[in-house]
Amino acid sequence: MAAKDTVAATARPSLTFGATWKYAPAPEDSGQVRIEARYGLFVAGKFQPAKAGRTLPVVEPATEAVLAEVAHADAADVDRAVAAARRAQQRVWGPMPGAHRARYLYRIARLIQERARELAVLETRNGGKPIRESRDVDVPLAAQHFFHHAGWADKVHLAFPGAVGQPIGVIGQVIPWNFPLLMAAWKLAPALACGNTVVLKPAETTPLTALRLAEILQQADLPEGVVNIVCGDGGTGAALVRHPGIDKVAFTGSTEVGKEIQRTLAGTGKDLTLELGGKAAHVVFEDCAVDQAVEGVVRGIFFNQGHVCCAGSRLLVQESLHDLFVEKLLRRMERIRVGDPLDKNTDLGAIHSRAQLDKIRGLVESGVAEGCTLHQPAGALPAKGYWYPPTAFTGVGPAHRIAREEIFGPVLSILTFRTPEEAVEKANNTPYGLSAGVWTDKGARILWLAERLRAGVVWNNTFNRFDPAAPFGGYKESGFGREGGRQGLRAYLRFSGSFRQG
Ligand code: NAP
Ligand code: MG
Repeated sequence: MAAKDTVAATARPSLTFGATWKYAPAPEDSGQVRIEARYGLFVAGKFQPAKAGRTLPVVEPATEAVLAEVAHADAADVDRAVAAARRAQQRVWGPMPGAHRARYLYRIARLIQERARELAVLETRNGGKPIRESRDVDVPLAAQHFFHHAGWADKVHLAFPGAVGQPIGVIGQVIPWNFPLLMAAWKLAPALACGNTVVLKPAETTPLTALRLAEILQQADLPEGVVNIVCGDGGTGAALVRHPGIDKVAFTGSTEVGKEIQRTLAGTGKDLTLELGGKAAHVVFEDCAVDQAVEGVVRGIFFNQGHVCCAGSRLLVQESLHDLFVEKLLRRMERIRVGDPLDKNTDLGAIHSRAQLDKIRGLVESGVAEGCTLHQPAGALPAKGYWYPPTAFTGVGPAHRIAREEIFGPVLSILTFRTPEEAVEKANNTPYGLSAGVWTDKGARILWLAERLRAGVVWNNTFNRFDPAAPFGGYKESGFGREGGRQGLRAYLRFSGSFRQG
């Protein structure tokens, strides 16, 4: 990799990553959390092997060890799952009064809370994210999504005045690896609240918490077939999307696959919502509270190793503040602790996979080759596992690849602007439009920008805050449809006549 800059040379050794790092899962955290050697698919309320007997290994990113073998569903397994979902929708879940569906959702929410530690440890071991994030963000938010939608289940008919939506039917849901449990909750809770049944396809690399959630669904006595989980790879996802027995696809993942799904569904009459990639602008004005903004920028890009669709990956800082801000930011980056994801003090865990690590390295190399200045704190990374240090680039222009392409890693591209108009122009200069952040002391300026930024979410003097009552979703190549809040129900209901309002 390219030479490091002067800041790297002054890094404080006691706080740099790697030096004292040794992977040893804390026994109280991992020892009691059961991981089976083999997992089946969850179809019609039971765990069962794939028909063809195929399995896929699940790897722990921090150690490269195989954690489990998981059944790999093919088209025949998808077919079984869709049939189970259809039966459940027609006979049980669709006709069930909303107040009864609510009871199941409340029960699931409470069980997620009760089993929070187990879910957090599994999420961290399977995904590589710091336990502090699994424990404080992913798992509590997953429970909140079920609580929130449990509250809607008997009020769905009130959500859109002037129109009463009906369940769509059987929903095919495909989710990515960066928030495996949380994305499952985002997808399942509103679909179920509205009376639909589901076939869910987790990412190939992160099926473990979805399968643990399946155990929770059994524990909650959810009627069989209401939720079915088919593990596998992209081929499994494609088989689900193509299946004639589903009425709607809800997809979260890359823009590339989202476009492919859109092409597959064209002309079929199936509904579709897409939550895709992002390249969010984090706009910092000279009048902001600088230290808080530095924290916000750190949270915006290094949370979950930057494997976040709405990550604040482009920092637009006002030219007059640039030098001071960069100095403070680089100093703060030296204190980011990279290492054992199960250690409660870890800030930056393992990169999710070898493939993602290669992608990050390739884009960083392009940044160096295009003349941007690389900043990385000094320190050795562990030899085993997938790791990448916190990284920032200065001297980035809008045409550089690292300013345009989603890196999906702990890499921040820093650009500058002079006027608010220029900030808006640069922020919107992207094919994506998922999120944005604004740091300024002036309320009027926040509102002025929020109206002009083409992003589904605009955070003000904060970043990466999530709430099940707030709709989340994108513009342009970041997709369409919303998840969360009243607007999120719209994606799981069908309205007769001319009603189109959300
Ligand atoms: P991905 O390759 O698009 O995969 C997402 C899911 O789709 C996985 O379950 C994947 O299975 C499956 N899949 C792959 N090919 C498919 C096909 N042809 N048909 C149907 N399903 C298929 O994305 P990823 O690399 O896992 O996730 C990272 C991307 O997701 C980033 O671009 C990120 O921005 C985006 N993302 C967006 C949001 C949002 O809310 N907007 C949230 C999180 C992530 P396999 O994993 O088994 O290949
Ligand atoms: Mg894939």
